[in-house]
Amino acid sequence: MKITLAETLKQKPDFTKLGFGKYFTDHMLYMEYDDGKWGEPEIKPFSAIPVDPASVVLHYGQEIFEGMKAYKNAEGKITMFRPRDNILRMNRSAKRLCMAELPVDEVLEAIFELVRIEKDWIPTDPGTSLYIRPTMIANENFLGVHPSKKYIFFVILSPVGSYYANGLQPTKIYVEDVFNRAALGGTGECKCGGNYASSLMAAEVAKKKGYDQVLWMDAKEKKYVGEVGSMNMFFVLDGKVVTPWLDGTILPGITRDSAIKVLKKAGYVVEERAVSIDELEDDYKNGKLDEAFGTGTAAVISPVGTIGYKNDIMTINNGEMGKITAWLYNTLTGIQYGRIEDDFGWVVRLN
Ligand SMILES: *Cc1c(COP(=O)(O)O)cnc(C)c1O
Repeated sequence: MKITLAETLKQKPDFTKLGFGKYFTDHMLYMEYDDGKWGEPEIKPFSAIPVDPASVVLHYGQEIFEGMKAYKNAEGKITMFRPRDNILRMNRSAKRLCMAELPVDEVLEAIFELVRIEKDWIPTDPGTSLYIRPTMIANENFLGVHPSKKYIFFVILSPVGSYYANGLQPTKIYVEDVFNRAALGGTGECKCGGNYASSLMAAEVAKKKGYDQVLWMDAKEKKYVGEVGSMNMFFVLDGKVVTPWLDGTILPGITRDSAIKVLKKAGYVVEERAVSIDELEDDYKNGKLDEAFGTGTAAVISPVGTIGYKNDIMTINNGEMGKITAWLYNTLTGIQYGRIEDDFGWVVRLN
């Protein structure tokens, strides 16, 4: 691995006012693919990347990304949470979009080294972390439609505060019955920019109606609920934890998987299955829709206080965070920050 350090370092932002994804660290990881193989990974000063106006990514959207975090506790110990699972998922996304797969161990080592170099950028206040954004773009210059022969893989880092401006306030989500995000056989289970581009319109419409995000339904029947924006969805129905199954249209979240595993270990009943909007409405009317929350790396656990569907408005747990939601938030962040013992082998120590 080649390392070129920046000659002058940036002025760091106020760590108490970070927001999400606004500031970037001094260095980045950069690696090119050409002639059927990846070149040497390089850590170098954060800078623009060489993309020609004819680059295929700009025309046909051959792009994938990942999202993970590094945490630093008060003693300066730096950890990451299941980082290998992110790179393995990126390789599954790469396969589906006919892109080059990454050398997993080499990429992980390079990311760990980058995080170590940027350790002073990792905030330590509760809920804060260093967000890590691995990205791969096709970068052959041509306008024909076939898989690119050249790729750029890069990783940028951003110190982040809590994902939601209003902290852990329950969000309002709108069950989307016009637009679709993904259909069976599509790219719903890949972390690719294209999925996000096609989801923006629905989110804009929902925002005008006073909602924070959209809960997608299946594209075929408009009957089953899927996931929310950049989060997987969970419901507590009559004491049981229920989450839509991985049918290929939703992103297999690492936070989702972690939530299922810690809930099961604590003795909760967890069901992965199809969840219809009718079932949710019936349970709501019968007082059995106890809690709802989303899971994702950025927010970890995000309580949902209101679900809107057509003209119906369901207010969950009086619009407050539920007991299981709060327990899960404390448990998962506890494992991530090292407050709670990690019985699963998820935490990777970097120093
Ligand atoms: C990243 C992402 C998630 C959450 O996945 P995590 O691995 O838990 O961060 C959920 N849905 C979509 C669409 C995503 O892009």
